[in-house]
Amino acid sequence: MKIGVIGLQGAISEHILAVERAMEALGVEGEAFWIRKGEDINDLDGLIIPGGESTTIGKLMVESGLFQKVQDRADSGMPVLGTCAGLILLAKEGDEQVRRTGQPLLGLMDMQVIRNAFGRQRESFEVDLKIPVFGENAFRAVFIRAPAVKRVWGDVEILAEYQDGIVATRQENLVAMAFHPELTPDTRAHEYFLKMCRE
Ligand code: GLN
Repeated sequence: MKIGVIGLQGAISEHILAVERAMEALGVEGEAFWIRKGEDINDLDGLIIPGGESTTIGKLMVESGLFQKVQDRADSGMPVLGTCAGLILLAKEGDEQVRRTGQPLLGLMDMQVIRNAFGRQRESFEVDLKIPVFGENAFRAVFIRAPAVKRVWGDVEILAEYQDGIVATRQENLVAMAFHPELTPDTRAHEYFLKMCRE
C-alpha cells in the first residue's frame, strides 16, 4: 500500500511515522511518501493533507500543481485524510477569515469550516474525545489553533463533536479531523484511514 503525505508545509514527518506505525499495527505491507508535486500522487492508495497553515499549504498546492491533481484523484475515489489545516482545505465553505484572505479551498466535502474556532486563549489543548468509529476507548485529541466544522450537508457523517463544534467528519472516501492524530502514540485514526484505503 502506498500512502502519501502532502509535504509542502506543516506536520509532515509525524504523519509519515504514524502511517508506518499504523501499517505495522494492522499487519499491512506498505510505505509512506513525502509528496511535493502533482505527478507524485499518480499511483497512491491514499493521501494525507497535514496540519500547518491552510493559507500556505493551499497556495503551495496551487503552485506545485497538486491542487487540481488532488481534486481530480479525490473525485475519482482516492481516499484523502485532512487533519487540522487539511480539514479546512477539504471543505466547500469557509468563514469570514477564509473570504478575507481569498485562500483556495479544495471544496471536496459538504461542510462549512471556521478557522481558529476555539479562540486565541486556548490556542492548544488536549481532550479525551469519544469517536465511536475508533471503538470504545476515548481518543486523546491534540488541538492546535484548530478549526471546527460549523455545518454539514449532503451525506457527510459526523464522527466526533467537542463543545459546540463538529471535529471529525467523513464523506465517502474523504475524512477530516480538526485535531492532530499524528501527535499521539494512539494509531487508531491512521488505522481507520488505512482500512478505507484497503477497501
Ligand atoms: N490555524 C491553522 C489554519 O487556520 C490550522 C492549524 C493547524 O493545522 N494546526 O490554517
